[in-house]
Amino acid sequence: APAPPPARHLFSDPAEVEALRRNLLAWYDRCKRDLPWRALAAAEPDADRRGYAVWVSEIMLQQTQVATVIDYYTRWMQKWPTLQALAQASLEEVNELWAGLGYYSRGKRLQEAARKVVSELAGQMPRTAEELQKLLPGVGRYTAGAIASISYGQATGVVDGNVIRVLCRLRCVGADSSSPAVIDWLWDMANVLVDRSRPGDFNQALMELGATVCVPKSPLCGECPVKQHCQAWRRKLFGKAPSVPDVEDCGVGDCPLCPPATEPWDSSLGVTNFPRKAAKKPPRAMRTATCVLERRGCHGAPEYLIVQRPSSGLLAGLWEFPSVPLAQDLQEEKEREELADYLQAWMGRPMAAKGLQFIGEVIHIFSHIHQTYVVYSLHLDGDVTLDPALSPSRWVTEDEFHASAVSTAMKKV
Ligand code: SF4
Repeated sequence: APAPPPARHLFSDPAEVEALRRNLLAWYDRCKRDLPWRALAAAEPDADRRGYAVWVSEIMLQQTQVATVIDYYTRWMQKWPTLQALAQASLEEVNELWAGLGYYSRGKRLQEAARKVVSELAGQMPRTAEELQKLLPGVGRYTAGAIASISYGQATGVVDGNVIRVLCRLRCVGADSSSPAVIDWLWDMANVLVDRSRPGDFNQALMELGATVCVPKSPLCGECPVKQHCQAWRRKLFGKAPSVPDVEDCGVGDCPLCPPATEPWDSSLGVTNFPRKAAKKPPRAMRTATCVLERRGCHGAPEYLIVQRPSSGLLAGLWEFPSVPLAQDLQEEKEREELADYLQAWMGRPMAAKGLQFIGEVIHIFSHIHQTYVVYSLHLDGDVTLDPALSPSRWVTEDEFHASAVSTAMKKV
């Protein structure tokens, strides 16, 4: 087994742990943001409803800002206030409500898991982090810990992006914070720190600190309720003083949590020396030709053709303007021809590429894809008969388009 890291990276003094809990919780009680899922978790007496309310919020908050989530969460809980209500919804309804929130498989998985709780667990939410993770599809270690601590008072820690940042700074963890070994250490730390009598509040307080005070770029250390426990803060203040040996790195090369010897502390960065991550792979570049096909509807208003994407893969089951992926570095003329060939299949009649009007390009960044949509439009004089053997398709007005399960990228188009 690898040697444990030196004490400066750990929380080994029980008195310090107690003081940190006290300071953080007192700050949370004073400063926490008023959020709809917090109000529900505090007021809901029914344990299954409470667990469900926290679960929905945690899934929506993955990779998504709080400010964006609030409105989606409120509408979701009004429409499906219980697991049973969600289990009866159609996937189309779920996708419509989720449209614009991104990472669409989250909504689908949430609904599948709700169906499982209703049909296989008699509608009862598992009560511990271990069971939540084991029994609910799409619920990982973090989400399970959050639901169990916030809804059921289980004294279990959580580690998300905010907690990683705070813990790495509190304990000067400069090794790659995305490596499994460091993540395991951070989970151990979170489990040591979590307050035994208010675990849900403590976990939310740690995340809240990361979201509002210990932020990535310019943390507000002067206002931080736990600065006296923070090794990175001490090092920023005293780092240059040779008389303070306990704020130096542990040693060269043998500490599993220190920065690598090749990338030592950079005093110009201060506390933002931590955390450190291995460089991310750059996103893959993709080009897609897309056509906004327009016809006059029966009441004279314009209507647009949208088609449904396959039920798996990126943006599964969402609707879009007819689109075709393009090879990189095609000439514009060739791109237009590829789109015309593709549209021909929809319209069941030959179509001249020059009839397509080029509108412009729209760039949309998915987490791992840098997507460029090359947008064309085409006005149809008469009606067209669409081949029912192809993917589902329909004509929609502009209002209907916005109410459909379409991605943010298509709204930009
Ligand atoms: Fe983060 Fe600064 Fe507080 Fe340390 S003192 S936890 S770096 S905000």
